Amino acid sequence: MFMEMLLTGYLANSQSIPSSWSLNTYHSIQLVLKMKYLIFVFTALCCITAITTSSGNRCEAAETEVQRTKHRIDTHIHLYDTRRNIEITWPPENDKILYQPHLPDEYSKLAKAAGVTGVVVVEASLRYPDNRWVLDLVEDDDFYVGLVGNIDVTGKDFKKKLTAQKEDSRFVGIRPRNRDSIDFTDKRVLRNLKILADSNLTMDYLTNGGGIDGLKIIEEVARKIPHLKIVVNHCLGYNFDGEAPSDDWISMVKQLASHPNVSCKISGLYQRSTEQPAPKQIAYYQDVLSIIWDSFGTDRIVYGSNWPVTKHSGSYQSYVDLVDQFISSKGQEARENYYWRNASKIYNLGIK
Ligand SMILES: [Zn+2]
Repeated sequence: MFMEMLLTGYLANSQSIPSSWSLNTYHSIQLVLKMKYLIFVFTALCCITAITTSSGNRCEAAETEVQRTKHRIDTHIHLYDTRRNIEITWPPENDKILYQPHLPDEYSKLAKAAGVTGVVVVEASLRYPDNRWVLDLVEDDDFYVGLVGNIDVTGKDFKKKLTAQKEDSRFVGIRPRNRDSIDFTDKRVLRNLKILADSNLTMDYLTNGGGIDGLKIIEEVARKIPHLKIVVNHCLGYNFDGEAPSDDWISMVKQLASHPNVSCKISGLYQRSTEQPAPKQIAYYQDVLSIIWDSFGTDRIVYGSNWPVTKHSGSYQSYVDLVDQFISSKGQEARENYYWRNASKIYNLGIK
């Protein structure tokens, strides 16, 4: 390059052709230099185009990854105080991480730092008065937009208790959970769930590790009470093991999702992993999540963390990062639906 510059300069500056050179030699050198110049310009243009294009792609990718959704509602956390003088039915006392007070101050800080804008608390107690306890705990805090409480669905006084609770507009539904397993084919249970549906409140359903049988139970309820909004917790309670799910499970999921009143919380991934601490790469969960996505689509999936159970595997931020690896691949619109729009519809949160 240096020699070329010297020659170009010499040729440009010289008034006459050096006498020792023939005219042909002079033209040949000029031609070679022109061609080299053209090649240089062409290469430079290609480089600039390549750089611009790749940085453009990078910008687009970054936008998909980091563009904030309008809201981010965590629809699944638990608040409780193990120091209270009551029977603590959950978490187990030997769980040193969870058997600690888990209160709004701690959660709010972590969640807000991870972009969360609102929270639906889910019951963690078999005691009816604890519905009020949670609502009082977050009474003056707009960050806490809802409670999925617990009222005994086998009880004769279900309607009375529900009527009392729904006075508070933040009481958005129940997650039926008793000391013993609940018979969801029982007439009174179904009658009570119909009352819940008539009140336009939602039912969360927990079937951790319940497999196909657990899904069959709720599929039947969904069929019998088609206006009952049902949200199945924690990726349908699947035990993630990094393997593809069975065909039988897949067809059960499709059958369940054929009821438009059923949604799925893509929540609790850390807890549902059979490998502990849970893997942080989405590939481990991908096969199951794809089935959920194919079956429930963009309008019936909901974000939830299951904090503080997440603590067994990682930070709150790491959990958001994990699920975001999945939902980001579905585009910004899917993210808006997943992080808040669907939750707002399903729990009547009025968030727009
Ligand atoms: Zn939970």
